[in-house]
Amino acid sequence: MYDVIVVGAGIAGMTSALYAARLELKTLILSRDIGGQLMMAPEIQNYPGFISIRGSDLALRVMKQVEGMGVEIRIEEVVNVKEEKGFIVYTAEGSQYETLALIFAFGKTPIELNVPGEKRLKGKGVSYCAICDAPLYKDKIVALVGLGEVGLHAASVLSEVVRKCYWIFPGPTPGAISPNVVKYVKEKGNVVLMPRTQVVEIKGDGKVSSILVKSLESGEVREIEVAGVFVEMGYKPKTDFLRGFVDLNEKGEIIVNSLCETSRKGVFAAGDVTNIPYKQAVISAGQGAIAALSAYNYVAQIKGYSRIDRDWKHLRVRHEEEGGGLFLRI
Ligand SMILES: Cc1cc2nc3c(=O)[nH]c(=O)nc-3n(C[C@H](O)[C@H](O)[C@H](O)COP(=O)(O)OP(=O)(O)OC[C@H]3O[C@@H](n4cnc5c(N)ncnc54)[C@H](O)[C@@H]3O)c2cc1C
Repeated sequence: MYDVIVVGAGIAGMTSALYAARLELKTLILSRDIGGQLMMAPEIQNYPGFISIRGSDLALRVMKQVEGMGVEIRIEEVVNVKEEKGFIVYTAEGSQYETLALIFAFGKTPIELNVPGEKRLKGKGVSYCAICDAPLYKDKIVALVGLGEVGLHAASVLSEVVRKCYWIFPGPTPGAISPNVVKYVKEKGNVVLMPRTQVVEIKGDGKVSSILVKSLESGEVREIEVAGVFVEMGYKPKTDFLRGFVDLNEKGEIIVNSLCETSRKGVFAAGDVTNIPYKQAVISAGQGAIAALSAYNYVAQIKGYSRIDRDWKHLRVRHEEEGGGLFLRI
């Protein structure tokens, strides 16, 4: 039985785990990957302590810090949770884990196209991150399904690398985006704009070889040969499996209070997956810390430890009584 299981190894989850481990809670992180959205941020200029840092570098630094604290990290996707003498967490890989407290920090997940072939060819030509995967498609032909600023950013990244990029979008324009950059992408010469079109199927035997594209004006469907499909339609919290377990808002975000408590006792949440209004790395990290401190207090209550107050006084009392050295590390 773990004291706390953190779901998600983005900046929120890793910060939670760091705090939990420093408070000597037996901590496990379950995550689909390490770093989350930070891995897609080319440059971060607003994270304290760094004038400029690549998102992936920041994520790896935090991961090393977390591992150094002895936190166990398993790459598994959480698909269900149940309350039963604590909580049981189920993963897509078929494992189940028991814990006293839970911290949900699983951020936002790329919006999918939901067309035949997409799931099967994920990672085999279907990508949700142009900045991460564009170099794999040097001099190749790719398709991009993208809207707004996110789509535009992907188009400009791809146009630097690929031979040709078909940019597919359902409306007359790819969304409310700055005209100068649209002009730049057009001028690159290798981006073909395909307004009022929609990808209806991704084909390939083992890896992507073509797409079926439908014209929303004529209904005509045609096949285009591509080596990759980039889906850049933004992100949303993927919280369906928590419906009825904790309260969600209309966007599917987990509702938390200022202590990062959810509507269920013993369950906390932090970062982009919550209803906090500003989705930023430093805010996710801060919420991760709050969630861990709140989880500590919850576990402390169950185990009969003193709780932490705002000045950390009770923690000092607890560890002086137990002869522990934790106070010295705070
Ligand atoms: C391109 C880009 C640029 C950005 N630039 C900046 C910037 O300059 N400054 C800034 O402050 N912010 C920036 N952001 C926003 C910032 O990256 C996010 O606000 C922050 O990283 C969110 O962290 P998080 O830990 O809450 O969630 P995420 O980073 O989304 O992490 C969630 C983690 O949970 C995992 N996960 C998801 N579902 C499950 C599941 N069911 N089971 C197990 N694991 C799961 C994911 O794999 C991931 O590891 C940028 C974001 C992007 C995409």
